[in-house]
Order: sequence, then C-alpha cells, then structure tokens
Amino acid sequence: MLERPISSLSGIGEKKAHKLHKLGIDTIYDALYQFPFRYVDRRKILPLAQVNDGDYAVVVAKVIDIKIQTVHKTKKELMILKVVSHYLEGEMVFFTPKYIKDYFKRNETYYFFGKIEKRGLIFKINQPEYAPENQKSFLSIVPIYPLTLGVTQYDQYKLHRNAINQSKGFLEETLDKSIREMFDLCPIEDAIEWIHFPVSKETYLKAKRRIVFEELFELQMRLVLIKNGEQQSKCMPFQVPTSFYRWLETLPFQLTSAQKKVVDEIIQDLTSGHPMNRLIQGDVGSGKTILAFAALYLTTLNHKQGALMAPTTLLAEQHYEAFKTIFGDTISVALLTSQMKNSEKKALKEALLRGEIQVLIGTHAVIQEDVFFSSLGLVITDEQHRFGIKQRLSAISKGTKPHALIMSATPIPRTLSLIVYGDMNVSVIDTLPIGRKPIKTHFVSTRKKNEMYAFVKKQLCDGRQVYFVCPLVEMSEKMDLTSATEHYETLKSEFHGFQVGMVHGKMKSQEKELVMHAFKNNEIQVLVSTTVIEVGINVPNATVMVILDTDRFGLAQLHQLRGRVGRGADQSYCFLLSDKLSKVAKERIETLVNTNSGFEIAEKDLSLRGPGEVFGLRQHGLPELKLADLVKDKKILAEAQKCVKIVISEYKLGNKKFKEMMDRLIEKNNKGFTL
Ligand code: ADP
Ligand code: MG
Repeated sequence: MLERPISSLSGIGEKKAHKLHKLGIDTIYDALYQFPFRYVDRRKILPLAQVNDGDYAVVVAKVIDIKIQTVHKTKKELMILKVVSHYLEGEMVFFTPKYIKDYFKRNETYYFFGKIEKRGLIFKINQPEYAPENQKSFLSIVPIYPLTLGVTQYDQYKLHRNAINQSKGFLEETLDKSIREMFDLCPIEDAIEWIHFPVSKETYLKAKRRIVFEELFELQMRLVLIKNGEQQSKCMPFQVPTSFYRWLETLPFQLTSAQKKVVDEIIQDLTSGHPMNRLIQGDVGSGKTILAFAALYLTTLNHKQGALMAPTTLLAEQHYEAFKTIFGDTISVALLTSQMKNSEKKALKEALLRGEIQVLIGTHAVIQEDVFFSSLGLVITDEQHRFGIKQRLSAISKGTKPHALIMSATPIPRTLSLIVYGDMNVSVIDTLPIGRKPIKTHFVSTRKKNEMYAFVKKQLCDGRQVYFVCPLVEMSEKMDLTSATEHYETLKSEFHGFQVGMVHGKMKSQEKELVMHAFKNNEIQVLVSTTVIEVGINVPNATVMVILDTDRFGLAQLHQLRGRVGRGADQSYCFLLSDKLSKVAKERIETLVNTNSGFEIAEKDLSLRGPGEVFGLRQHGLPELKLADLVKDKKILAEAQKCVKIVISEYKLGNKKFKEMMDRLIEKNNKGFTL
C-alpha cells in the first residue's frame, strides 16, 4: 500500500507526480517521510491594535476596494486590496495578481496572513496568504515543505494530507508497545500525522521525539548488528610468543601508557578467535604507526601476511622506510605504489602469492586493485581521515576474513564515535609521547607579518624548516585571498638563501611528491602549499607552521594542519594569520591557542558548526538522519543507546517480540547502508 505511486492519490495527476519526483517523492511512503522543514502558526487572530510592526499575524479584514496598478519601471502589474479591520485601514499587496485577480470580492471578509507593516494607524501586508472567513482550517499550524518549479505549498499540503489519510491502518508500527511505554513514545501513526499537521506544540514535540528516537535507535541497532555479525565469524586465534614482548622492549622509545593499552587491546582481539575489527583514534603525532607495526609483527610471528594501506604514496613510502628502520631484514617487506613499472608490480604480486613477502605496504587504491595474498592475516588502513562504512567492509572482506585495524587521526567526541564507528571497537590514544613540547600557537594580524617573518628567518638560520599554507591556488578576483603561487614568489625573495618549494592540488601527483621528498630531505626549507599537506608527512625538523587566511579554514582542519609540526624534540610554533576576523573565526582561533587536544577541539568544532557539517554522515557511509540532530538530540541519543542494549539482551534471551524487528533491520543491512 505505501509503495503505491503518489499518482494513485486523488488530486495528484501524472504531471504533478513528475514534478514531485524532483523532490524525491515517488511513493506514498516517500510523502509520509518527507517532513516539513518549518511551520507557520496561524492559529491566533490578534486584534490589530495588539500587533506590532514586523509581527507575523492573521488579520480578519473586509475588502472595500480592489485596484490594479502597473509599476512604472518594470511594467509589472500589482494588485492592491484596500481593507478594513477593526476600524483600521490597510492594504494587501500582491505582486503577481494574474491568477487571483478575480478571487477577491468587494465587501467580503477574508483571513490574511503575513508580515505586518504598521505605520501609525495604517497597516500593510505584502504577498499575504489568504482564505475566505468561513474556511476555519486556515487557522492552524501549517507545515512548510521544500518546493520546486510547478509545486506549490498547496500542492504539498494536498499531497501530504491525502497520503496520510490513505495510509491510516497501513503504517506498520516498528517499535513494540513495551518499548514505546518505557521510553514515552507515541505510536508511529500519530507521529506521522502530527509531524505534518501538529494541532499543538505538544503534539509536534511528541511526534518529533518519536521520529528522532526511531532514527537514532535504528542507526545504532544496525551498526551493532554489523558488529555482532562480524564477531560471530571465526578465525584461528593468534599466539603471542615471548619474543614479541622482548621486541617491544627493544624499541627506540618507551611506549606511552595509552599506546601500551592499545597494544593489549590488539593482542586480545588477535587471540580471541574472531576477526579483529578495531579503530585506533589518536591525534596527529600520537604514535599510531608503531602500533600498526606491532600488529603486523605479531601477524608475521603467526606465519600470516599483513598489509598496511596508506592514503597517499608519500605516506606509504614513509611507512615503508620506518618499517625497514625498525625491522631491518628480519621481515620481508615490500612497497607497492602506482608509480612502479608493470613488470615490477607483476613480480611483486607473484612473490606475494608465493608467500615470500610477509608485509605489504602501499596505497589503498593499489592494494585493493587486484592483489592476492597466500595467507592474509591482517589489513591495516591508515586513513588520516575517516572512511565510509562500506569501504571499510569491502576492505575487510577481502580474502578470508583477515583481522582489520583502522587508524584515524580525526578525534571524534566520544558520544558521536559510538555512531560513526558504531560497527567497530574503538581504542583511543589521548596522550602524546612524553617529551613532546606542546605547539605554541599565536594569532598574527596581517599588519604584523614582518615581525613574524623575522622570527621565521631565525628558525631557518637555526636549521629548522617551515610550512606556509594558503587556501587557494590562483588569485580569484572575487575573494581577495592570498594565493599559493603569489605567496611563493614573495617568500622566495623574503627568505633568499633558503630553498623555497611549492605544492598544490593542481600539480601532478608525481611533481608533488618530488617536492615533498625534497622537503623531507631538507633540500627545501620553506614549503608553500595548499591544504594538500594536510594528509600528512612526518618531518620532525619542521617547526613552524604558518597558516594564511585563517578564517577560510575549519577548526578541525586547522588542527590537522598544525599537527604537521611539533613532531620532533624542538619547540614548534603555529602562526594563524588573518586581517579581519568573524566572530566564529575568533572563537576557532582562541580554541586553537588554548588547547592542543584534538578531542577538545572536536567537541568545540561540533558546537560551532553542528554535526551536519562536521560529520556528513553520508561521507561515512551512514544514512543521513532526517530529523535527528546528533548534538541537539544528545539526550535522546543516550536513551536510544540504552534501548539498543535492552532489545539486544532481550532478543538473546529468546524474547520473540523483537525477532521481526531484527529480521527487518538485518535485511536492510544486507541491502546496504541506507535508511
Ligand atoms: P601518528 O599517530 O600521527 O601516525 P606517528 O606514528 O607518525 O604518529 O608518530 C609520530 C612520531 O612520534 C614518530 O616520529 C614516532 O617515531 C614517534 N613516537 C611514537 N611513539 C613514541 C613514544 N612512545 N615515545 C617517543 N616517540 C614516539
Ligand atoms: Mg600516521
């Protein structure tokens, strides 16, 4: 019934249906679940004397004269209704009167709704909404829907009213009565009726609560189902020989307590007999790589192969070098990148298939292509950013269910990581290695640029290296932003005697890598770039990060950029340059100046920008939420989390009530991750 096309509803012809299709509405179900984005309260009629200039209000007024005028300049027609209401005179102005010219009659009384302009005793409404006085339904809370060409609010109203009337008795209740009672939720039928046509604020809130709850509940439930599904599959449990612990002792540094904890968690996963599905969340520079190496080492000790995937060739090479430094020739490791000759690639893949290569390092794209292992035991993804659920699953399901470890440098507030990474176990590294000096962050007004240059020069003379980051590549006329190219020239003359290099997104990746390499090897001391260096490289000798046009960057992005320095033993600095600052930009900068903690910054970012922008859910392969807001609805989120736990444990105890729901959600999961 709900899957019927909207053209089956009375009043919706094929033509209208075609236009509504543009708004994503094809079936009755679609119509029910396309919610209003706001409401207009037309319930109260106030005496005009009580209405203030600028208020939205309903006025009951009698038409005493109708005039059509032509606007001199535009030659467009204008209809002006002279009206009286409670002895006050006013005007109703319509700008495109073509369709309604004959609608109004002299001496009849109508409702008018709109923004009231009051000048003394005269009032006026431009483009009011209207209805004859006997149409009492005008006095209600009115839903406002998205529109498109050829679809009016009235069309939308009719569509939703009809769809709801037709669906009565057919809408399937998805939450069991026991749950609804426990969490104070109204039935779905009421919720759908009231979210479109609330009769009061209370009914609206009830409807919203029910729908938000269900969205959050379903999202989490489905993530848990994915997680449980994976935990049910089996694999050979790894052994941990004492040589592994001895190796940990030989590292050039002592692991921090946070790192040790993660090593323990990884060991637990690998020895459990179920495939590991773990995410390590740790700020830039928190030392995730060594944990990846530990997991890879343990894999080789268990006579399995491991793969480490990085987002860029440069990072893959960096990991490869680091791996060689730590393990020397004791483990056979290979690097696979897109730059390699085909013959080399072929030889490498063959060696891999023969099991001669124990650890393969490369970029995501290359490793996922057509690489086969003889016995793949572990796949590690170093993503710097986040990665969608779907991709995660596909990477994991390559071969015979290897263990999966993901490293992310984007800290996410804990409540949200339950959502975004709800299908994984999460380890958090919340402390930096000891001895790391916090980066000193300063705001620099463009006027004081020269003083900063002097400081930078001194650092260069001390042998350090410097990043300059600008938001755009070429000068755009509209926005007066400093472009990387232009800046490159300026800095070359400013810091003559030092090598200045440049990378930006429009360069070929090979060119880019050449420059990055040179910077890594200290053949270039000053690197001018756009945000391409955000996905990062590790150059401990770089101690200064200058960010130009700071207000162009988001908070989290600024933090990521800053994380490129402060990786060595020397004191590092970050200068945030700007001339004019908006209020939000100021708050961003203050946050950065005051804290180096990625988690704190993530929380702040969330409150400044809202979750929609920070965590485009779709970007994670998660379904977009229609009504729920991960920040504003934190309380309901927690309740929904509690509900998930209850339902799962009841289900496991054999409570048949939830079987249907589980089956439905599992089926949805099998179809992919959209709501
Ligand atoms: P990220 O978490 O950003 O991937 P890395 O793994 O690249 O960080 O580590 C950053 C730097 O810190 C590397 O040079 C690494 O050798 C070093 N490092 C990692 N762990 C420690 C530690 N416990 N003590 C000192 N230095 C460490
Ligand atoms: Mg890293």
